[in-house]
Amino acid sequence: MSEILSSSAAALAGKLSAGELSARELCQKFLAALEADGHNCLIGVRGEEALAEAEAVDAARARGDKLPATAGLPLVIKDNIVLRGKLPTTCGSKILHNFASPYDAHVVERLRQAGMIVLGKTNMDEFAMGSSNENSAFGPVKGPVAQDRVPGGSSGGSATAVALNLAPLALGSDTGGSIRQPAAFCGVVGLKPTYGRVSRYGLVAYGSSLDQIGPLARTVEDTALLLGVIAGHDGRDSTSADEPVPDFSAGLGKGVKGLKVGLPKEYFPDELDKNVRARVNEQVEKLKAGGAKIVEVSLPHTKYAIAAYYIVATAEASANLARYDGVRYGHRSSKAGDLLEMYRNSRSEGFGPEVQRRIMLGTYVLSSGYYDAYYLKAQKVRTLITRDFTEALGQVDVLLTPTTPTPAFRLGELMDDPVSMYLQDIFTVTINLAGVPAVSVPAGAVDGLPVGAQVIGRHFDEQTVLRVAASLEGDE
Ligand code: GLN
Repeated sequence: MSEILSSSAAALAGKLSAGELSARELCQKFLAALEADGHNCLIGVRGEEALAEAEAVDAARARGDKLPATAGLPLVIKDNIVLRGKLPTTCGSKILHNFASPYDAHVVERLRQAGMIVLGKTNMDEFAMGSSNENSAFGPVKGPVAQDRVPGGSSGGSATAVALNLAPLALGSDTGGSIRQPAAFCGVVGLKPTYGRVSRYGLVAYGSSLDQIGPLARTVEDTALLLGVIAGHDGRDSTSADEPVPDFSAGLGKGVKGLKVGLPKEYFPDELDKNVRARVNEQVEKLKAGGAKIVEVSLPHTKYAIAAYYIVATAEASANLARYDGVRYGHRSSKAGDLLEMYRNSRSEGFGPEVQRRIMLGTYVLSSGYYDAYYLKAQKVRTLITRDFTEALGQVDVLLTPTTPTPAFRLGELMDDPVSMYLQDIFTVTINLAGVPAVSVPAGAVDGLPVGAQVIGRHFDEQTVLRVAASLEGDE
């Protein structure tokens, strides 16, 4: 039994198509594991609906239908990805606690076409705002390696579920690091695709110009497999790119011989935790041993990234979250006398403190008189940061950095200090601002706590990013 739970998705797909395992049996095993979860990874579990879908896959297979290689594979998805059916899509917020979506996100349609089975919706920081999963209205997720540590955020439930073998695969979303940082803290692989690679149709918006859905898994091969299922053009997202989708697994065994890998000097500052530096340096040695050429590069505008990100992201969030007013769906206050009071009370009761902070900050930076000083300036910085990446990635094939400045911190440690919490994102937000793809891959541990190495690539070159990540994987 535990051997099945710890199998890779690729191995499970093989067993399913060989008829050694039924989709129903597999689904039941993971559902039982999810029910027994003591880490608060899930906000909702699908049970019956998932079993019915698994039975349909088994019936199709028994009839001899030609099925996709992934048919019957179960996974969990972050609770900001809408899924039609009984289960609500809460975004980790009280304001949407009773919102059941009438439609499926594009990625969910893709999962269904691939015969994959969504077992449940994972816990997350409210509206994906956070780096520790402590901002969830459904309580924090306990880290998979040490229960007194955060799993990272905002896709903390997805990363923890995969790390604990409660699901072979998960989807998360990443606006400033929310797939990669929890992947690093939980010792799993997590990839943020190029902006536009995966449709955002049905992803509840946080910072629309930064948001991407992406895969989390225990192996690079499984990460590539899930990316292949969800990637591709969709006319319902105007920023979805009409780019060909390659076989993301194709280059995985090729090694790194002849590749040029850049180490951006701003990502290895003197103050960097020396143990994190040591783990990442070990990865650099692996790349050298594999025949890659290591080059120092510079991303000179990195120091402005956190400030620019927290202006752009909150500005977009303040506009995106204006729709939660208690009128058509979501929480409505029972205390209101008139319309304005109804808006105010519904939003004050429904949103948690971090979301309220971000809405206020975002509204402020967009307000007349401050727009030029903050929002416009941040957009200019964003252009400079993007240019830094274009120049660096013109000299090298990929960049390698730590994913986070430290391993997982303690639950509660940074909750009263938002600026220190925001600084956790120092190595990840730049990638969203530039729109390039990046993966976090396990790079060993410090005092038993996992550390991640981040591989960053050119726009739409997830293939090389995954190829390099595969060469780093294992025996760390
Ligand atoms: N920690 C960052 C934030 O709070 C990133 C979150 C994310 O990527 N969704 O905005």
